[in-house]
Amino acid sequence: MVKEAPGAREVHLAKTIGGARLKPDLIGHDERITKRILILGAGTGGTLIANKLRRRFGAETEITVVDKDDRHVYQPDLLFVPFGLVAPNSICRPRSKQLRRGIEFRLGEVERVEIEKNTVKLKDGEALPYDVLIVASGVELLPEETEGLTGPGWGESAFIYYSVEGAAALRKAMEGFEGGRLVVNIVDMPIKCPVAPLEFCFLADWWLQKRGLREKTEIVLATPLDGAFTKPVAATILGELLEKKKILVETEYSAGRVDGEARKLYSWDEREIAYDLLVSIPLHGGSAFVEGSGLGDELGFVNVDQNTLQTKAAANVFALGDATNVPTSKAGAVAHFQAETLIENIDRFLAGKELEKSFDGHANCFIETGFSKALLLDFNYEVEPLPGKFPFPVVGPMALLKESRLDHLGKLAFRQLYWHLLLPGRRIPTISAQLKMAGKDTSLLRPEGGNG
Ligand SMILES: Cc1cc2nc3c(=O)[nH]c(=O)nc-3n(C[C@H](O)[C@H](O)[C@H](O)COP(=O)(O)OP(=O)(O)OC[C@H]3O[C@@H](n4cnc5c(N)ncnc54)[C@H](O)[C@@H]3O)c2cc1C
Repeated sequence: MVKEAPGAREVHLAKTIGGARLKPDLIGHDERITKRILILGAGTGGTLIANKLRRRFGAETEITVVDKDDRHVYQPDLLFVPFGLVAPNSICRPRSKQLRRGIEFRLGEVERVEIEKNTVKLKDGEALPYDVLIVASGVELLPEETEGLTGPGWGESAFIYYSVEGAAALRKAMEGFEGGRLVVNIVDMPIKCPVAPLEFCFLADWWLQKRGLREKTEIVLATPLDGAFTKPVAATILGELLEKKKILVETEYSAGRVDGEARKLYSWDEREIAYDLLVSIPLHGGSAFVEGSGLGDELGFVNVDQNTLQTKAAANVFALGDATNVPTSKAGAVAHFQAETLIENIDRFLAGKELEKSFDGHANCFIETGFSKALLLDFNYEVEPLPGKFPFPVVGPMALLKESRLDHLGKLAFRQLYWHLLLPGRRIPTISAQLKMAGKDTSLLRPEGGNG
């Protein structure tokens, strides 16, 4: 669907022609004035970088965004669907409507990237040429990769909530749940929003108490990690919270198979966990075309320089968001911070300048803990989540690694920020793309580094 005539797609204009407004940087890089920027994926990262590019370059670039469907989901709200706190259709909007005028939205499934030809092949046979390519294809959920998970009991006693359909089906099952053992299992890392399974446990504790079912229910979190989270300070604080709420944690649990008839989950080392209701966070992998195009690592995530976001495969191919293999959380907030680096680096690339190494792995996310409270994490490649205040020292007003009602309100308010500021590519004042140490309690840091 074209939202505005895209202009001279194949026209290579001479530098002197036309009187078009040109950025000085763009003049002299090569003979073509209009650069074609192709973005694969119209999720959080693809949409916000497309809108930022359009704001920065105006008609000086042709921007096309490809996605296999036209339903943009605000994924953080998937957490609330199983508890009846939001309706599934209220978290979805058409992708094309989130893009600024002048950006072309192309519905189609990417089959492969032909790096040598600067072309992307779609499954319908069309070939899309580009000068700069941005891969923002997120992750694929792979429940069928766990033996037995999608067999007997799938959609009856075993569910996922990382998709709209899965969350809606789980909602129905929760309504009929009368107590027993509720098992939340992270099959393997990496996953999107690694704290979301903890949030599910905390909300389940609240929801079951409200319905008088908590005494009759055991909540178990089975995780491949050796604690509640990957980083030690947060793992300790979150571990204590899980314990306080009587949520059992089965650590270093590497799920191997599910026996849906017997309602049992088995790890590779044959540890058995019986369940009445299984909430699985399934295996995640990169989009299939990534590996097939020579862009990915063994999990299908795009190999990029972790500070510039340029791929290792080609200088004119970049990536952002969950699709990348950078060692930080897969989170919308990360895609948002990465976009600040990416916009500068695409500008620099088009101008033939050196790229800046400004992405520091910055991630932050709210963790809903039930009873109208939440806490906030803020970290990067080097600095683990620490207690303190955010975004300003002393005054906050948000609390880091400490439950507060304000953090809960912040989590709810983020919905509106997402649709109206973040996705349209506007700057969110007060939140810096790079991690700030001001306000953090560094006394908990271990002496010689090792906080990664
Ligand atoms: C339950 C849950 C809770 C979460 N909570 C939070 C939170 O509180 N805070 C936070 O920051 N993040 C949270 N996240 C994570 C956040 O939603 C993602 O990290 C973010 O959406 C990633 O953006 P992305 O653009 O990389 O991928 P996506 O938004 O997933 O977009 C990828 C796009 O690529 C498209 N695509 C893939 N392959 C192809 C192909 N072959 N052809 C065409 N199109 C293709 C897909 O259709 C999709 O639209 C949560 C996620 C979940 C599931």
